Amino acid sequence: MQPSTSPISVLCDELLSTIFLIDFYNSKEAPWNLAVVCKTWRRICLLTPEIWTRFNVGRDHDLECKVVDKTCVDSQLQISRCCLKLQRSQARPIQVDIEGPSPSCSISMMRALVQHTLRWESFQSRRPYESVNTTQQ
Ligand SMILES: [Zn+2]
Repeated sequence: MQPSTSPISVLCDELLSTIFLIDFYNSKEAPWNLAVVCKTWRRICLLTPEIWTRFNVGRDHDLECKVVDKTCVDSQLQISRCCLKLQRSQARPIQVDIEGPSPSCSISMMRALVQHTLRWESFQSRRPYESVNTTQQ
């Protein structure tokens, strides 16, 4: 029995990269979901820094925050993803979007992101009545 060949597998890397960029504009989870499909897609994702340039800062869990040293311990995945995105986006301009009501979840991400303010192409905050202290303690 011969392995089946999906029609998408015949597309060149450049075309797949362009398609990934379209998906990037539609979903903030796009790079993570695309990079786990197969080795080829992961390689293309890692070679496409533009799909790693969107940063959504906010609480990513439903339970109350468990705060240790002013940092939410439940947001560790979000923090590691933020650091990976900062690397994978290379020197590309980034978009920062702050949402949600929980500064303890976002403090570590904001500390990482403020190190790259020269790359900030856009900044949006949907947290109008709170401020985030991003200075190192
Ligand atoms: Zn939290």
